[in-house]
Amino acid sequence: MIMSNLTRVTMISPNKKKRTSDIVGFGVHCMACNATVVSLGNHFSNKSRKASSNYGISSDGLIGCYVPEDYRSQCTSNRVVDDHIITIEVANDGREPDWHVSNAALDALVALLEDCCRRNNIPELKWKADKSLVGQYDKQNMVAHRWFANKACPGDYLYNLHGSIAAEVNRRLNGGVAPVQQDQMLAALPTIKRGATGEKARLLQQNLNRFGCGLKDDGKFGPASVAALKAWQTKYRLAADGSYGPKSYQKMKELIEG
Ligand SMILES: [Zn+2]
Repeated sequence: MIMSNLTRVTMISPNKKKRTSDIVGFGVHCMACNATVVSLGNHFSNKSRKASSNYGISSDGLIGCYVPEDYRSQCTSNRVVDDHIITIEVANDGREPDWHVSNAALDALVALLEDCCRRNNIPELKWKADKSLVGQYDKQNMVAHRWFANKACPGDYLYNLHGSIAAEVNRRLNGGVAPVQQDQMLAALPTIKRGATGEKARLLQQNLNRFGCGLKDDGKFGPASVAALKAWQTKYRLAADGSYGPKSYQKMKELIEG
């Protein structure tokens, strides 16, 4: 029984089969409820439900294991896919349409993904949000449940964060600067300035953190973010206006892509 050392609760589900493929990717799911790791384990203990996941994460960041990694779970509505991936159910502290996830759960998710990548010799997480790449794990090794069933899973909130989650896991795997994902850089356009909120602001915060800014990447581009951006602009001889436009973008791209 192979499982992450980050596991805090183990409740082995009967809904599993011995894995026949190597682990080459991940499926991040949402529970569509705010279950604890124990209540999710109880849910998966029922054989008639024919449902399970390798791991579950509650909103307080606790990690449960229900199907050890050497077994495949019944999670993604596709047996072949489940045989190739580790599946992770994440609790929602918000409801539809976004299915929000807590920061504690996100932190635990990133830590778990990093650990699983290291132990399974997966050098990099790749996410293109492209269903047509299913099965081409060398091009995209994260899969979304919504591609295989009429479901919102993993919810828009987690789905839209897949690129950032991959970038953060990759940054950790590389012990520093992650290879840039072009789509993320492009996604960070157009101009981001004080008061900007959302995913683009968050991506910029994460990119600034590659340069040691130490910002909280909460997607709220407030005074601390503006000050960090101005310092970064000054350092790289750009107009220090605290506004992230095309020139700053070009410079960021150049620096990160080396
Ligand atoms: Zn799912």
